[in-house]
Amino acid sequence: MGNSSVSAGDRDSTCSVVIVGAGHAAAQAARSLRANGFDGRLIMVGAEDWLPYDRPPLSKERLTQDGPVDRLLLNPDTFYSSHKIELVLGSAATAIDRDARHVTLANGERLSYDRLVLATGSRVRRLPDSIAGAERALYLRSFAECAVIRARLANARRVVVIGAGYIGLEVAASIRKTGAAVTVIEAADRALARIASPHISQLFEAAHRAWGVTILTNAKVKAIEPDAVLIEGHPPAPADLVIAGIGGAAEDSLARGAGLLCDDGVLVDQQGRSSDPAIFAIGDVAKPVVNGARLRLESVSAAVAQGKAVAAAIMGQPAPADETPWFWSDQFDLKLQIAGVRGADDVAVVRRREDAPGLAVLHCRDNRLTCIEAVNDPRSFMMARRIIADPDARIDLDIACNGEIPFAEAFSAQARTAA
Ligand code: FAD
Repeated sequence: MGNSSVSAGDRDSTCSVVIVGAGHAAAQAARSLRANGFDGRLIMVGAEDWLPYDRPPLSKERLTQDGPVDRLLLNPDTFYSSHKIELVLGSAATAIDRDARHVTLANGERLSYDRLVLATGSRVRRLPDSIAGAERALYLRSFAECAVIRARLANARRVVVIGAGYIGLEVAASIRKTGAAVTVIEAADRALARIASPHISQLFEAAHRAWGVTILTNAKVKAIEPDAVLIEGHPPAPADLVIAGIGGAAEDSLARGAGLLCDDGVLVDQQGRSSDPAIFAIGDVAKPVVNGARLRLESVSAAVAQGKAVAAAIMGQPAPADETPWFWSDQFDLKLQIAGVRGADDVAVVRRREDAPGLAVLHCRDNRLTCIEAVNDPRSFMMARRIIADPDARIDLDIACNGEIPFAEAFSAQARTAA
C-alpha cells in the first residue's frame, strides 16, 4: 500500500500526526510514537469528553459500582502534557480531505496532517425498528452509557438482556450479583456463538443458570413494552429495564466518506496502512488479514498491538513481531481467556485439569495449536499462547488432551517436540 513512513527529513517539529479517536488503540499509538522517537506535532481527537479510558470494566464491576472516570484512565492527564500530545476532546472528526491532508472537526476546527491514524473503534448494533418499542432498550459502549444504566439499575428489579454475546453475558452476571432477576434472550442456538466453541457456550450457559439467570436461546424478541419483553414462542419476560448487547459494527463512516477501501472496517495491511499511504487504521475499526482472512479483532490486546505496529510503520522502523490475538471475559467466578483464531475445520479437544477446576479447549490443525479457550486456567493459557505464536511448534493431541498429565508437563513435552 505504498511508502508511508515519515522520512528522516520529516521527523522534526514540522511533521504532524493526527490520531482520530481517543481509546485504547489511540493511546497506545501516541505512547509508542513518542517512545520510538517521533518529535513532531502529535494531536489526538476524541468524540467523548474523557481522556482515553479502559472500556472492559464497564460491563464488569463498574456497571454496578459508581466511581469517577479517573480510576479508569489509561494514563494520567500529566502523561499527555509531558509527552507533548495535544488533546482535542468532546469534538468528533467529521470529514477528511485527502488532497489537502486535513481533518475537519465538529467544532469547525481544521487539523493538517502528514500522517493520519484512524482509531475510531466500533459502534453498537441497534435493534431494528421492526421491534415495537425498540427505543426502550439501553446500550453499553461508553462510560456515559454505563452511568445511565447504573442509575436505572437503582430502581430495576427485573432486567432483560437481549443478546448472549460476551458483553450481554457480562452485563447479566454483573446485574445478577446485585440480586435482580435477569433474563437473557438470544436469537442463536447458543450463547457466545460468535466468539467461543460450543463446549465453552455450554459451560457458561450452565454457570449462568446455576447463578439464577434465565437464558433463552433460539428466542426472538417481538416487542419491548414498558414492563415486559415479548418473545416469539415464549411467555413475556417481565422487565423494568432492557439492555441490548447484539454486537457491533466498525465506526468507519469517516473512512468511507473519504473513499478509503472499507468493508465493515478499514482494510489495512499488517502495519495498519489503508488504501491511502498517508492514512492508517488501528483497533476495532481496522480490518487486517488474520490467518488468511479479513478480520476485525475487537479486543484490548489487538488495539495495543496495532497501536505499536502503526507507530513503527510511521517511523519507518521494522514491524514488531506479530502478536497472537487474545481476549478475556469475566463472568461470575469464571475467567475465560482465548488466544489464537479457530478455523472451521480445526479439531477441538477438551482438557480438564485433574488438579484444579479449570478447563481448556484446544483447537488444532495439522498438529499445530491454533487456539486455546481456557476457563480459570491462566497457566495453560499462557503456555498455549507461546506455542500458538511459535510457527515451528507442533503438538501431540494425545499428550495435550490427557488430563492425567499435569498441564505444565504436557506443554513442556510440546515445547520439546517443537525444539
Ligand atoms: P475504543 O476504545 O472504542 O475507542 C474509540 C474512540 O474513538 C471512542 O472514544 C469513540 O468515541 C472515538 N471516536 C469514534 N468516532 C470518532 C470521530 N469521528 N472523531 C473522534 N473520535 C471518535 N476487550 C477485551 O479484550 N476484553 C474484555 O473483557 C472487553 N470487555 C469489553 C466490555 C465493553 C462494555 C466494551 C464496550 C468493550 C469491551 N472490550 C473488551 C473491547 C475493547 O474495549 C475494545 O476492543 C477496545 O476498546 C478497542 O479499542 P479502540 O481504540 O479501537 O476503540
